Amino acid sequence: MSTNHTEQAADHDDDFDRWYVDVVRNAELADDAPVRGCKVIRPYGFRLWELMTARLDERIKATGAENAYFPLFIPRHLLEREAEHIAGFAPEVAWVTRGGGHELDEPWAVRPSSESIICPSFARWVQSYRDLPIVINQWGNAVRWEERPRAFLRTLEFLWQEGHTCHASADEADQRARQMLEVYRAFLEEDLAIPVIPGLKTESEKFAGALRTHTVEAMMGGKFWALQAGTSHDLGDHFGRVFGIQFLDRDGERKFACNTSFGLSTRTVGAVIMVHGDPGGGLKLPPRVAPIQVVVVPIWRSPAELAAVAAAVARIAERLAPVARLHVDWRDDRTPGFKFNEWELKGVPLRLEVGPRDVAADQAILVRRDTREKTPVPVATLASTIETLLTDIQTAMFAAAKHTLDTHTAPVASYADLAARAAANAGFSLAHWCGDPACETRVKTETKATIRCIPRNLPKEPGQCIVCGKQSDQRVIFARAY
Ligand SMILES: [Zn+2]
Repeated sequence: MSTNHTEQAADHDDDFDRWYVDVVRNAELADDAPVRGCKVIRPYGFRLWELMTARLDERIKATGAENAYFPLFIPRHLLEREAEHIAGFAPEVAWVTRGGGHELDEPWAVRPSSESIICPSFARWVQSYRDLPIVINQWGNAVRWEERPRAFLRTLEFLWQEGHTCHASADEADQRARQMLEVYRAFLEEDLAIPVIPGLKTESEKFAGALRTHTVEAMMGGKFWALQAGTSHDLGDHFGRVFGIQFLDRDGERKFACNTSFGLSTRTVGAVIMVHGDPGGGLKLPPRVAPIQVVVVPIWRSPAELAAVAAAVARIAERLAPVARLHVDWRDDRTPGFKFNEWELKGVPLRLEVGPRDVAADQAILVRRDTREKTPVPVATLASTIETLLTDIQTAMFAAAKHTLDTHTAPVASYADLAARAAANAGFSLAHWCGDPACETRVKTETKATIRCIPRNLPKEPGQCIVCGKQSDQRVIFARAY
């Protein structure tokens, strides 16, 4: 992951931002839409999202969750019931005021998040401790008003999963919130090859209405900015109280239930693009979620060559079908060189070239997308070679991303250092912070860096706040973020 953009601090449309827009267009992941703030996800981009969601869905279900579906619309009185929740979302909410040819008695919000439409159902379903816990996941969309869209990263309507759970005790809700963060960490690191830093959001960065928000933060390539890749919220009994989710406990007392919610969205597609892509080249997809893992490019000039190559490719495709998602590019109006370039831009991990000479030698030429290494492989061992390579590439991509994260994360000793690193797009800065939101706000206003998280895996260490000099017992991560 090489880059020469580290000296730049421009906010908008610098080289890396333009690279991102080009990759999304050239790889046919998404397209502009005829409605402001929204994008069209094209089939190749949607297939990538489908493969990602299949992996994540399996992981979420393995924790005991069941999928369900709740309405897109939320009557105003419900959305406004939890005061902090609506205060946090108010500026981003889209409202429906007309329907069926007349004004609605009460406007409906298009869900920015579903706590306030799900909690009334929880209140109906929960009577006794025996009805708990409830662990529900929903795959759907949400709308948060967005003026400056960027495909996947920031769109007015986005796709996501949102989990919602209901528990008999605060302790159980706390455990669940942590458990789901671990699900996101494993998904991002193992399936998407994206290393993350798990931690807690500060009071000012936490989810509207939550007791605490756990987050996994990833570092993007190019400008080494952060991207919040998934969040898991311990809602305490805030929603239980305002929505009247009450149950009779084992001890015979009526108690309010505790809730959690957690979400991961199509922003993660943006993370895959930015973490793995190489500026100068294009997309690089981790094999586990690549829509096409191996593209076969047959090469021929005459009908006789075509017949021989076609027979060989058919045999190869049959051998590879059980081990890889395969596509054979039979287009006859494109040169092999054009096809090589196109599939590289689309980030396909492996390419197989099969020409007349390869047919004669009973082999194929295998090319890795990540290293561009080219090797002739006998057809007899092709399947096992490819199976091994797909695993190796996945591992190598994680290692490369981890190297970027590690080499662009550094402790800072002074406010001046922090400001300089933020201005130079130098990456994550580990700095002491006293816990005062005023210090956090000053850094944000002056350097545009925010506290991404209070890292979970960082040992306590006495120090002085980078802003005010007051006592601090832990470093936090400051970074510019998407
Ligand atoms: Zn301070």
